[in-house]
Formats: sequence, C-alpha cells, structure tokens
Amino acid sequence: MKKIIFATGNAGKMKEIRMILADLRINGEEAEILSMKEAGIDTEIIEDGRTFAENAIIKAKAVAACAEGAIVLADDSGLEIDYLNKEPGIYSARYLGEDTSYHKKNANLIDRLTGVPDKDRTARFVCAIACVLPDGEVMTEEATIEGRIGYEEKGRNGFGYDPIFIVPEYDKSTAQLTEEEKNEISHRGKALRGMKRQLKAYFDEQGMN
Ligand code: IMP
Repeated sequence: MKKIIFATGNAGKMKEIRMILADLRINGEEAEILSMKEAGIDTEIIEDGRTFAENAIIKAKAVAACAEGAIVLADDSGLEIDYLNKEPGIYSARYLGEDTSYHKKNANLIDRLTGVPDKDRTARFVCAIACVLPDGEVMTEEATIEGRIGYEEKGRNGFGYDPIFIVPEYDKSTAQLTEEEKNEISHRGKALRGMKRQLKAYFDEQGMN
C-alpha cells in the first residue's frame, strides 16, 4: 500500500485530512495516511521561511528526507489581520509565546483593535499545503477564508483564533460553526481539496490512477 505521511503531530488536522483524502486511490488501492508519529518519524524542523508556502515546503522536505518513497504532505497556516499589517501571520502559533493561552492571545488582539470599526477589522485565515512526491517534485496549494475580527470571544468549537474570527456569511465565529460547516468553507479544507485534485492529476499523468 502506498503511504502518504502528513507532517503534523496535531490530531485534529489528521482527522480532517483523513476525511478529505478518504477517496484517494493510488494504483487502484486506498492510500494509507499516517501522521509523522505513526510513521515513526521524529525530526526537529526549523520553520524559518518567510511565507506560509515556504514553511509548508520546509516541513514536507524535512519529513521526506526521513521517508524514502513516501508521499509527504505538510501544512502551514495562520491568521492575517489587515489593520495590524497582517499580524500575527506566519507567527500565529508563536504569537505572545507558544505557551500563552489562546484566551490571552485573542484578548490581546481584540485590545489592539479597540475603536476600530467593522469595515477595518478585516482578516483571513491562510493555509498553504506542500507535497513532496517520491521523485522529489514539489506541489503547493494555498487557500484562504475571509472574515473579520469580532469584539469578544464567541463559541466553543474549533481551536486557536476561531472564537474571534467572524465569517460574514454566517454572522458567526468559526468557533460557533460545526466541524462539517467549518471544513466546507475553511482555508485548510479548501487547500486540502485543491491538493487532492493536484494529486489525482499527478497520479493520472503517471498512470497510477
Ligand atoms: P501551524 O500548525 O504551524 O500551521 O500553526 C497555525 C496556527 O495558526 C495555529 O496554532 C493557530 O494559532 C492558527 N490557526 C490556523 N488555522 C486556524 C483555524 O482554523 N482556526 C484557528 N486558528 C488557526
């Protein structure tokens, strides 16, 4: 069975990727989708890229170096707030320190937007996915979800900055959406589905469908 390794330790991301790639076939077989841990890979990765895509490529290449013959996927994501010159951006996980609670990070961002009206509170979640193929070819896919920063935390679903990210179409935060609703419209859902299309096209081209 052909292996696809996803370079993450995050169980939520693994669940999402398994759901989205469930119908992917390689040489007519179902692909085995493994986390780094499940693949027995433990390598320190220094994410020093300047963009989401660069960081996703760095992660995918680092894991691919430990897994000959596998297809490796990695993602990098974050929140861009226009009024704050796109902060926290690629530093979203590290904003105010890796160990600071998201309740504090969210409160701090709302604080920094005090007095800023709705029209200037625009923001987006960005997700870049990189894939390293067994022949070394690299493919990338990037997607966003546009929204605005709310005035207080709302909702209990999701993670990270979800309670302060308002999706205008629903007039709800992404923490108030169900998992299915969020996957349908989210940056990560869209990027993963785009990557699946690219992988299918690659397998067709290689006669591996
Ligand atoms: P990554 O795991 O290195 O991609 O870090 C992404 C960081 O961006 C997370 O720790 C969150 O802070 C933030 N982030 C990315 N996607 C989302 C999302 O869907 N909801 C909330 N926060 C997110």
